[in-house]
Amino acid sequence: MAANESPLSSIPSPGGPVLEASHVWKSYGSVRAVADVSFSVPAGQIVGLLGPNGAGKSTTMKAVLGLVRPDAGSIRVLGIDVSQFPVEAKRRIGYVPEATSLYEFLTGAEYLDFVSDLYGLDPAARRQRIPQFLAGLELAGHENALISGYSQGMKQKVALIAGLVHHPRLLVLDEPLNGLDPRSARVVKEVLRNLARHDGVGILFSTHVLEIAQAICDQLVILRQGTVVATGTVADLQRRAGLAGSGLEDVFLSLTGTGDLSDVVSALSR
Ligand code: ATP
Repeated sequence: MAANESPLSSIPSPGGPVLEASHVWKSYGSVRAVADVSFSVPAGQIVGLLGPNGAGKSTTMKAVLGLVRPDAGSIRVLGIDVSQFPVEAKRRIGYVPEATSLYEFLTGAEYLDFVSDLYGLDPAARRQRIPQFLAGLELAGHENALISGYSQGMKQKVALIAGLVHHPRLLVLDEPLNGLDPRSARVVKEVLRNLARHDGVGILFSTHVLEIAQAICDQLVILRQGTVVATGTVADLQRRAGLAGSGLEDVFLSLTGTGDLSDVVSALSR
Protein backbone atom coordinates (compact mmCIF):
# COMPACT_ATOMS: atom_id res chain seq x y z
CA MET A 1 0.00 0.00 0.00
CA ALA A 2 1.31 3.46 -0.78
CA ALA A 3 2.03 5.55 2.32
CA ASN A 4 -0.89 7.88 1.80
CA GLU A 5 -3.30 5.23 0.54
CA SER A 6 -6.14 4.33 2.89
CA PRO A 7 -8.92 1.81 2.48
CA LEU A 8 -11.33 4.43 3.75
CA SER A 9 -10.36 7.20 1.36
CA SER A 10 -12.70 5.93 -1.31
CA ILE A 11 -15.87 5.44 0.76
CA PRO A 12 -18.82 6.67 -1.30
CA SER A 13 -21.30 9.22 -0.10
CA PRO A 14 -24.27 8.05 2.01
CA GLY A 15 -26.92 6.37 -0.13
CA GLY A 16 -24.31 4.92 -2.47
CA PRO A 17 -24.04 1.18 -3.01
CA VAL A 18 -22.78 -0.96 -0.15
CA LEU A 19 -21.52 -3.48 -2.70
CA GLU A 20 -20.29 -2.90 -6.21
CA ALA A 21 -19.07 -5.83 -8.32
CA SER A 22 -17.50 -4.55 -11.50
CA HIS A 23 -16.53 -6.74 -14.48
CA VAL A 24 -15.52 -9.67 -12.30
CA TRP A 25 -13.89 -12.71 -13.94
CA LYS A 26 -12.87 -15.94 -12.25
CA SER A 27 -11.72 -19.29 -13.66
CA TYR A 28 -10.69 -22.44 -11.86
CA GLY A 29 -8.07 -23.89 -14.18
CA SER A 30 -9.82 -24.24 -17.51
CA VAL A 31 -13.31 -23.87 -15.97
CA ARG A 32 -14.67 -20.36 -16.37
CA ALA A 33 -16.90 -19.87 -13.31
CA VAL A 34 -17.68 -16.14 -13.60
CA ALA A 35 -17.29 -13.95 -16.69
CA ASP A 36 -17.64 -10.16 -16.66
CA VAL A 37 -20.15 -10.05 -13.80
CA SER A 38 -21.27 -6.59 -12.70
CA PHE A 39 -24.02 -5.67 -10.26
CA SER A 40 -24.53 -3.59 -7.16
CA VAL A 41 -26.38 -3.75 -3.87
CA PRO A 42 -27.72 -0.35 -2.77
CA ALA A 43 -27.97 0.46 0.94
CA GLY A 44 -31.33 -0.67 2.31
CA GLN A 45 -32.07 -3.10 -0.51
CA ILE A 46 -32.31 -6.87 -0.72
CA VAL A 47 -30.75 -8.29 -3.86
CA GLY A 48 -31.27 -11.93 -4.82
CA LEU A 49 -28.64 -13.84 -6.77
CA LEU A 50 -30.47 -16.50 -8.78
CA GLY A 51 -29.29 -19.09 -11.23
CA PRO A 52 -29.26 -22.79 -11.94
CA ASN A 53 -26.61 -25.14 -10.53
CA GLY A 54 -23.14 -24.17 -11.67
CA ALA A 55 -24.22 -20.66 -12.75
CA GLY A 56 -21.53 -18.99 -10.64
CA LYS A 57 -23.50 -17.88 -7.58
CA SER A 58 -21.13 -19.37 -5.00
CA THR A 59 -18.06 -18.10 -6.81
CA THR A 60 -19.56 -14.60 -6.94
CA MET A 61 -20.40 -14.72 -3.23
CA LYS A 62 -16.92 -16.02 -2.37
CA ALA A 63 -15.37 -13.18 -4.34
CA VAL A 64 -17.54 -10.69 -2.42
CA LEU A 65 -16.40 -12.27 0.84
CA GLY A 66 -12.74 -12.14 -0.18
CA LEU A 67 -12.50 -15.95 -0.17
CA VAL A 68 -11.54 -16.15 -3.85
CA ARG A 69 -9.56 -13.52 -5.67
CA PRO A 70 -11.03 -12.47 -9.02
CA ASP A 71 -8.76 -12.88 -12.05
CA ALA A 72 -9.99 -9.48 -13.23
CA GLY A 73 -12.47 -6.84 -12.17
CA SER A 74 -13.11 -5.39 -8.75
CA ILE A 75 -15.38 -5.82 -5.78
CA ARG A 76 -15.92 -2.89 -3.48
CA VAL A 77 -17.73 -2.91 -0.14
CA LEU A 78 -18.59 0.65 0.87
CA GLY A 79 -15.98 1.71 -1.63
CA ILE A 80 -13.28 -0.52 -0.10
CA ASP A 81 -11.61 -2.88 -2.57
CA VAL A 82 -11.99 -6.40 -1.14
CA SER A 83 -8.82 -7.75 -2.78
CA GLN A 84 -6.71 -4.79 -1.70
CA PHE A 85 -8.04 -4.30 1.81
CA PRO A 86 -9.62 -7.62 2.81
CA VAL A 87 -9.64 -7.02 6.56
CA GLU A 88 -11.20 -3.56 6.28
CA ALA A 89 -13.83 -4.87 3.88
CA LYS A 90 -14.64 -7.96 5.97
CA ARG A 91 -15.26 -5.84 9.05
CA ARG A 92 -18.22 -4.38 7.18
CA ILE A 93 -19.63 -7.68 5.95
CA GLY A 94 -21.79 -10.19 7.78
CA TYR A 95 -21.90 -13.68 6.32
CA VAL A 96 -24.37 -16.48 6.95
CA PRO A 97 -23.29 -19.68 5.18
CA GLU A 98 -25.75 -22.27 3.94
CA ALA A 99 -24.53 -25.35 5.78
CA THR A 100 -24.00 -23.86 9.18
CA SER A 101 -21.51 -25.66 11.33
CA LEU A 102 -21.64 -24.09 14.76
CA TYR A 103 -19.69 -25.24 17.81
CA GLU A 104 -22.23 -27.74 19.08
CA PHE A 105 -20.64 -28.06 22.52
CA LEU A 106 -21.37 -24.41 23.29
CA THR A 107 -24.70 -22.92 24.25
CA GLY A 108 -26.24 -20.40 21.87
CA ALA A 109 -25.29 -17.58 24.24
CA GLU A 110 -21.69 -18.82 24.55
CA TYR A 111 -21.35 -19.10 20.79
CA LEU A 112 -22.64 -15.58 20.22
CA ASP A 113 -20.30 -14.30 22.93
CA PHE A 114 -17.42 -16.07 21.21
CA VAL A 115 -18.28 -14.48 17.86
CA SER A 116 -18.66 -11.08 19.52
CA ASP A 117 -15.17 -11.53 20.99
CA LEU A 118 -13.79 -12.22 17.52
CA TYR A 119 -15.20 -8.92 16.33
CA GLY A 120 -14.05 -7.11 19.47
CA LEU A 121 -17.61 -6.06 20.29
CA ASP A 122 -17.71 -4.37 23.67
CA PRO A 123 -19.77 -6.01 26.45
CA ALA A 124 -22.36 -3.23 26.66
CA ALA A 125 -23.03 -3.38 22.91
CA ARG A 126 -23.44 -7.16 22.92
CA ARG A 127 -25.71 -7.08 26.00
CA GLN A 128 -27.98 -4.74 24.12
CA ARG A 129 -27.84 -6.26 20.63
CA ILE A 130 -27.88 -10.02 21.18
CA PRO A 131 -31.04 -10.21 23.35
CA GLN A 132 -32.86 -8.09 20.78
CA PHE A 133 -32.04 -10.56 18.03
CA LEU A 134 -32.81 -13.57 20.23
CA ALA A 135 -36.23 -12.11 20.95
CA GLY A 136 -36.84 -11.06 17.34
CA LEU A 137 -36.00 -14.52 16.07
CA GLU A 138 -38.04 -16.27 18.79
CA LEU A 139 -34.96 -17.84 20.37
CA ALA A 140 -35.22 -16.09 23.74
CA GLY A 141 -35.25 -18.69 26.50
CA HIS A 142 -33.21 -21.17 24.46
CA GLU A 143 -29.90 -19.32 24.54
CA ASN A 144 -28.54 -21.25 27.52
CA ALA A 145 -29.16 -24.69 25.99
CA LEU A 146 -26.41 -26.52 24.10
CA ILE A 147 -26.44 -25.95 20.33
CA SER A 148 -26.24 -29.73 19.84
CA GLY A 149 -29.85 -29.89 21.02
CA TYR A 150 -31.10 -27.17 18.65
CA SER A 151 -33.24 -27.88 15.59
CA GLN A 152 -31.78 -27.02 12.17
CA GLY A 153 -33.91 -23.87 12.09
CA MET A 154 -32.66 -22.75 15.50
CA LYS A 155 -29.06 -23.28 14.37
CA GLN A 156 -29.71 -21.19 11.28
CA LYS A 157 -31.14 -18.40 13.37
CA VAL A 158 -28.09 -18.44 15.65
CA ALA A 159 -25.87 -18.31 12.55
CA LEU A 160 -27.88 -15.30 11.35
CA ILE A 161 -27.38 -13.49 14.67
CA ALA A 162 -23.67 -14.37 14.54
CA GLY A 163 -23.54 -12.69 11.12
CA LEU A 164 -25.13 -9.54 12.54
CA VAL A 165 -23.48 -8.91 15.90
CA HIS A 166 -20.90 -6.50 14.50
CA HIS A 167 -23.39 -4.21 12.71
CA PRO A 168 -22.39 -5.13 9.15
CA ARG A 169 -23.42 -2.73 6.40
CA LEU A 170 -23.54 -5.62 3.92
CA LEU A 171 -25.10 -8.96 4.80
CA VAL A 172 -24.36 -11.94 2.55
CA LEU A 173 -26.49 -15.05 2.92
CA ASP A 174 -26.33 -18.38 1.17
CA GLU A 175 -29.81 -19.93 0.80
CA PRO A 176 -30.92 -18.33 4.08
CA LEU A 177 -34.36 -19.90 4.37
CA ASN A 178 -33.41 -23.49 3.58
CA GLY A 179 -34.59 -25.90 6.23
CA LEU A 180 -36.74 -23.37 8.05
CA ASP A 181 -40.37 -24.15 8.81
CA PRO A 182 -42.88 -21.63 7.42
CA ARG A 183 -43.16 -19.67 10.64
CA SER A 184 -39.39 -19.44 11.12
CA ALA A 185 -38.97 -18.50 7.45
CA ARG A 186 -41.45 -15.69 7.97
CA VAL A 187 -39.67 -14.45 11.07
CA VAL A 188 -36.31 -14.48 9.29
CA LYS A 189 -37.80 -12.64 6.29
CA GLU A 190 -39.15 -9.97 8.64
CA VAL A 191 -35.79 -9.56 10.34
CA LEU A 192 -34.07 -9.19 6.95
CA ARG A 193 -36.64 -6.66 5.78
CA ASN A 194 -36.25 -4.64 8.95
CA LEU A 195 -32.49 -4.66 8.65
CA ALA A 196 -32.77 -3.34 5.12
CA ARG A 197 -35.58 -0.82 5.66
CA HIS A 198 -34.71 0.53 9.09
CA ASP A 199 -30.98 0.04 9.42
CA GLY A 200 -30.06 0.56 5.75
CA VAL A 201 -28.19 -2.74 5.55
CA GLY A 202 -27.63 -3.97 1.99
CA ILE A 203 -28.42 -7.66 1.67
CA LEU A 204 -27.20 -10.09 -0.97
CA PHE A 205 -28.45 -13.62 -0.93
CA SER A 206 -28.44 -16.57 -3.19
CA THR A 207 -31.45 -18.78 -3.63
CA HIS A 208 -32.85 -21.41 -5.94
CA VAL A 209 -36.37 -20.72 -4.72
CA LEU A 210 -38.38 -18.32 -6.87
CA GLU A 211 -41.06 -17.77 -4.24
CA ILE A 212 -38.48 -16.55 -1.77
CA ALA A 213 -36.94 -14.24 -4.34
CA GLN A 214 -40.36 -12.83 -5.16
CA ALA A 215 -41.35 -12.42 -1.53
CA ILE A 216 -38.31 -10.64 -0.31
CA CYS A 217 -36.05 -9.22 -3.01
CA ASP A 218 -36.06 -5.64 -4.19
CA GLN A 219 -33.89 -6.63 -7.13
CA LEU A 220 -32.75 -9.81 -8.81
CA VAL A 221 -29.49 -10.68 -10.52
CA ILE A 222 -29.87 -13.77 -12.67
CA LEU A 223 -26.75 -15.68 -13.59
CA ARG A 224 -26.24 -18.31 -16.24
CA GLN A 225 -23.00 -20.04 -17.09
CA GLY A 226 -21.07 -17.41 -15.20
CA THR A 227 -22.63 -14.33 -16.79
CA VAL A 228 -25.40 -11.96 -15.75
CA VAL A 229 -28.35 -12.52 -18.08
CA ALA A 230 -30.94 -10.31 -16.40
CA THR A 231 -31.10 -7.78 -13.60
CA GLY A 232 -33.95 -5.70 -12.26
CA THR A 233 -36.91 -5.69 -9.97
CA VAL A 234 -39.45 -8.46 -10.09
CA ALA A 235 -41.71 -5.92 -11.83
CA ASP A 236 -39.05 -5.34 -14.49
CA LEU A 237 -38.92 -9.06 -15.20
CA GLN A 238 -42.71 -9.25 -15.22
CA ARG A 239 -42.87 -6.46 -17.77
CA ARG A 240 -40.25 -8.20 -19.84
CA ALA A 241 -42.47 -11.27 -19.89
CA GLY A 242 -45.57 -9.16 -20.60
CA LEU A 243 -47.16 -10.35 -17.37
CA ALA A 244 -47.31 -7.34 -15.05
CA GLY A 245 -48.82 -8.30 -11.70
CA SER A 246 -48.20 -12.03 -12.02
CA GLY A 247 -46.11 -14.17 -9.73
CA LEU A 248 -42.49 -14.70 -10.62
CA GLU A 249 -43.11 -18.34 -11.22
CA ASP A 250 -45.94 -17.47 -13.63
CA VAL A 251 -43.60 -15.14 -15.45
CA PHE A 252 -41.03 -17.85 -15.73
CA LEU A 253 -43.61 -20.43 -16.75
CA SER A 254 -44.87 -18.16 -19.47
CA LEU A 255 -41.39 -17.46 -20.74
CA THR A 256 -40.25 -21.01 -20.67
CA GLY A 257 -43.15 -23.40 -20.37
CA THR A 258 -41.64 -24.64 -17.12
CA GLY A 259 -40.76 -23.28 -13.70
CA ASP A 260 -37.28 -24.65 -13.99
CA LEU A 261 -34.67 -22.02 -13.41
CA SER A 262 -32.38 -23.11 -16.24
CA ASP A 263 -35.23 -22.63 -18.74
CA VAL A 264 -36.11 -19.33 -17.15
CA VAL A 265 -32.60 -18.12 -17.62
CA SER A 266 -32.61 -19.19 -21.27
CA ALA A 267 -35.82 -17.27 -21.86
CA LEU A 268 -34.62 -14.12 -20.19
CA SER A 269 -31.37 -14.10 -22.10
CA ARG A 270 -32.98 -14.29 -25.51
P1 ATP B 1 -24.74 -24.38 -7.24
O1 ATP B 1 -26.10 -23.79 -7.32
O2 ATP B 1 -24.71 -25.78 -7.77
O3 ATP B 1 -24.08 -24.24 -5.90
P2 ATP B 1 -23.32 -22.10 -8.32
O4 ATP B 1 -24.23 -21.26 -9.12
O5 ATP B 1 -23.03 -21.67 -6.93
O6 ATP B 1 -23.82 -23.58 -8.32
P3 ATP B 1 -20.42 -22.20 -8.64
O7 ATP B 1 -20.27 -23.13 -7.48
O8 ATP B 1 -19.95 -20.82 -8.50
O9 ATP B 1 -21.95 -22.18 -9.15
O10 ATP B 1 -19.68 -22.88 -9.87
C1 ATP B 1 -19.50 -22.24 -11.13
C2 ATP B 1 -18.64 -23.15 -12.00
O11 ATP B 1 -17.32 -23.21 -11.45
C3 ATP B 1 -19.14 -24.57 -12.08
O12 ATP B 1 -18.84 -25.04 -13.39
C4 ATP B 1 -18.30 -25.30 -11.07
O13 ATP B 1 -18.14 -26.65 -11.41
C5 ATP B 1 -16.98 -24.55 -11.15
N1 ATP B 1 -16.26 -24.54 -9.86
C6 ATP B 1 -16.68 -23.98 -8.72
N2 ATP B 1 -15.75 -24.11 -7.75
C7 ATP B 1 -14.72 -24.78 -8.31
C8 ATP B 1 -13.44 -25.22 -7.83
N3 ATP B 1 -13.04 -24.97 -6.59
N4 ATP B 1 -12.64 -25.88 -8.70
C9 ATP B 1 -13.02 -26.10 -9.97
N5 ATP B 1 -14.20 -25.69 -10.49
C10 ATP B 1 -15.05 -25.05 -9.67
